[in-house]
Amino acid sequence: MRTGILFLVSGPSGSGKSTLCRRLESEGEAEFSVSCTTRAPREGERDGSEYHFLKREDFERRIAAGDFIEHAEVHGNFYGTLRSEVVDRLAEGIDVVMDIDVQGAAQVRAIEDPVIRGALVDLFVMPPDERELEARLRGRATDSEEVIQLRLRNAIEEMSHWSDYSYRLVSATREEDYAQFKSLLVAERMRISRLRNP
Ligand code: 5GP
Repeated sequence: MRTGILFLVSGPSGSGKSTLCRRLESEGEAEFSVSCTTRAPREGERDGSEYHFLKREDFERRIAAGDFIEHAEVHGNFYGTLRSEVVDRLAEGIDVVMDIDVQGAAQVRAIEDPVIRGALVDLFVMPPDERELEARLRGRATDSEEVIQLRLRNAIEEMSHWSDYSYRLVSATREEDYAQFKSLLVAERMRISRLRNP
């Protein structure tokens, strides 16, 4: 028996991190921490599945109630991780994967709770270069030009934080990325400090 891993994944939109996180969940390797957000759902997104979609007042109420382990404003909207998505699962030995931005990651690293500190594995996923990043962002039919430009500017800023993380993955093909991604989790499962009775 061991405690769960908190697999924190960041990277600019277009890095492929969301696909990696979702695949890990669909293969039963980890459970996804469903965040709250004040942004509008995209086509095909369902409340409680990709996100818990909240009105701004409700989000602020949950901040005041201390429901989030971290929260941040990203691309003009609020995003936050619910304590209830993370803490009990780790205690039960379930690995939790979370897709959060660099500000949220800094907040999680600063948490003093030994359960979270001991569980944390933080990874930054980045596209190979800016041209590839732009091509990937443009490949998404769902976003307007204005949104693409905003995401591109934010992505370049976000990339400057990669060295704050313990691990970095430079994106290549989907399959290569997933193989590396999963192998990090598999390796972390062997850490002796995660065993309950070493
Ligand atoms: P999107 O709106 O494209 O789903 O996500 C935009 C950004 O918000 C992504 O960089 C994603 O990692 C980040 N994000 C999603 N959930 C959370 C969260 O709970 N907390 C923080 N800090 N960022 C989040």
